[in-house]
Amino acid sequence: MNVSVIGAGTMGNGIAHVFAQNGYKVNLIDVSEAALEKAIATITRNLDRQVSKGSITEEIKQSTLQNISSHSSLGAISHSQLVVEAATENEAIKLSIFKQLDEIAPEGCILASNTSSISITKIAAVTSRPELVIGMHFMNPVPVMKLVEIINGYATDAKVTATITELSKKLGKVPCVVNDYPGFIANRILMPMINEAIYSLYEGVAGVEEIDTVMKLGMAHPMGPLQLADFIGLDVCLSILQVLHNGFGNPKYAPCPLLVNMVTARKLGVKSGEGFYVYTAGSKDLVVSPRFGNQ
Ligand code: NAD
Repeated sequence: MNVSVIGAGTMGNGIAHVFAQNGYKVNLIDVSEAALEKAIATITRNLDRQVSKGSITEEIKQSTLQNISSHSSLGAISHSQLVVEAATENEAIKLSIFKQLDEIAPEGCILASNTSSISITKIAAVTSRPELVIGMHFMNPVPVMKLVEIINGYATDAKVTATITELSKKLGKVPCVVNDYPGFIANRILMPMINEAIYSLYEGVAGVEEIDTVMKLGMAHPMGPLQLADFIGLDVCLSILQVLHNGFGNPKYAPCPLLVNMVTARKLGVKSGEGFYVYTAGSKDLVVSPRFGNQ
């Protein structure tokens, strides 16, 4: 099976890595050459780590890299049986990509989206093949996290759901099929928790470390909600909350003004070097941003 992955950012590079490591030929496509270069460097670094831990051999590392080719235009999808779109979480961008995918992809090609929250039914509606459109929502970091949330759009064919479920298992993942309502399951539950953690900081209930420590030690979460938000990307969190807010029309999903301000100021978390914490290349220390240091 030939697979194309659209978008070579945080998620796209991980999705390409996992398919390629399992023997699939992957076209990794991004409008940004810099993103493609960074993605190949990230995949190589992650494979090196797997080799040094003994979880894969040097040969598998090499074959994984050989299975991936980089492209800057969508033309590369013309021989794919599956496209997994992992471009920026923005409805207009995704609708435009799916219109083009539908024109270029061969007949029968399944069009999947890794969207965190945008309606699969809406994405499918801009194509002439809504029955072949499905959500394939990987978790970050993709090579490590086991879950794939599979989202049935209103028109998704049950055979397509079965194919993607089986494929997810072949990738060593655990699939979970859900229906298409705002936020699906993962983010419908996760994002209100993250938003509440940000509100708690905004209202001065506690500081960054206290909020994260309560959730780590009290609820056995491996990472506190503020650190997790930084890891996901604060812009991605904001987009998802806006989808929940608009989709349900319920004020309980309104994004915290502090989150909105941080995204406007381009403090996006790990990817920009600062969010609730500051991130220095090469350092694993978790240092609270000076902005929140005196709480
Ligand atoms: P990102 O910002 O790291 O990467 C997005 C990439 O898409 C960029 O490299 C950008 O150049 C590229 N892109 C934008 N428009 C494009 C186009 N028209 N054609 C090709 N490439 C294009 O974003 P990300 O965090 O990797 O998120 C990607 C998708 O995965 C989003 O839908 C997001 O909601 C979802 N997701 C993210 C996470 C997470 O933890 N970050 C987890 C699960 C799902």
